[in-house]
Amino acid sequence: MKKVITQLKPYVPEKTLSELKAEKHLSKLVRLSANENPYGTSPDVKKAVIDWAYNQSNRYPDSDATQLRALISEKFSLDPQQLVFSVGLDEMIVMLSRVFLEPGDEEMISTPTFSEYALHAEIEEAVIKKIPILKSGQIDFAKMLASITQKTKLIWICNPNNPTGTVESVADIERFVAQVPKETMVLVDEAYIDFADGNSASAMKLTKKYPNIVVMRTFSKAYGLANFRVGYAVFSKEIAEEVQKTRLPYNVNSVAQVAAVAAFKDQAFVQDVVDKNRQQRQLLQQYFDENDIFHYPSQANFIFFKYPQADDLAEYLLKNGYLIRTGLAQDWLRITVGTDEDNQNIVSLFDRYRKIKKIIIIKSLSWYKK
Ligand SMILES: *Cc1c(COP(=O)(O)O)cnc(C)c1O
Repeated sequence: MKKVITQLKPYVPEKTLSELKAEKHLSKLVRLSANENPYGTSPDVKKAVIDWAYNQSNRYPDSDATQLRALISEKFSLDPQQLVFSVGLDEMIVMLSRVFLEPGDEEMISTPTFSEYALHAEIEEAVIKKIPILKSGQIDFAKMLASITQKTKLIWICNPNNPTGTVESVADIERFVAQVPKETMVLVDEAYIDFADGNSASAMKLTKKYPNIVVMRTFSKAYGLANFRVGYAVFSKEIAEEVQKTRLPYNVNSVAQVAAVAAFKDQAFVQDVVDKNRQQRQLLQQYFDENDIFHYPSQANFIFFKYPQADDLAEYLLKNGYLIRTGLAQDWLRITVGTDEDNQNIVSLFDRYRKIKKIIIIKSLSWYKK
């Protein structure tokens, strides 16, 4: 076994809701810890999946995901050969780490960010360079540029960033990529881009101009298909061809392809989800502002906020039926933006907790300064 595996801290996935409900003796539990879509998925998905089921289970899936490939490349004006599909965006992170990293190479990340980039770099025995975000929550591009060496093979840009929810403009990303050496790949994870305001936020079109940029998307978040495991990346054609060599031939099964096709065709559903999320996100951020709860300006479907004794607040919410994300940074929590009802409940639970604990957040306290 590779030595690095024995030293690895495993990714701890979410417990099932039924498991947690039993453990905490709860009758109701809403998960606001995994950035899932609280509005479900397009009703068209159900129909497509049922129509497909039992029909062709004995046959291998379409290795090229032909229909899905055609739909996506048409919508984003791409060459179909620029796309590589994966079992969720998770698998794309694995593939890219495997393709580009040799032992001793460097991977650069902006911290805090999604933990899987570093996990898979570690498995490839690469060195991880962490560049902390600026006070505003934005990526420190200048520091990144200054830290690139000949060994830097991958640079991850999570946009909007998980967990901060902050967004970088395409102009800033382009200015950065233009200065990065051609041998260094810039990987833009757009898992939450649908939730960002403005349609021009995506870096997708840069893939035609710069061979060293990769843009990734998933069906797990705005499309509400987390259980189906469909993600993809957009490369220059030449790089896509190389990455395809490492993909398991039948990675995305047919049910997942059928579901993703139906979900992608129903853009009205996605737009509705995005609109509702924007409205609820605004309300929650407004509540945080009014109550002096520090948070980054989010353009995603979650908010990262600072709170004294954060784990205690999370435990209180859990006892009252709401699971939110702990353990990302000390005194910080991440909450997925839920439905209108969830939000109202969350706000009253915050109010109640604050009264019980007599919490006063004073901005001038040294604790509160980042
Ligand atoms: C959720 C998430 C993913 C993984 O999504 P899947 O497609 O479900 O594997 C990738 N990147 C970020 C930043 C995420 O938050």
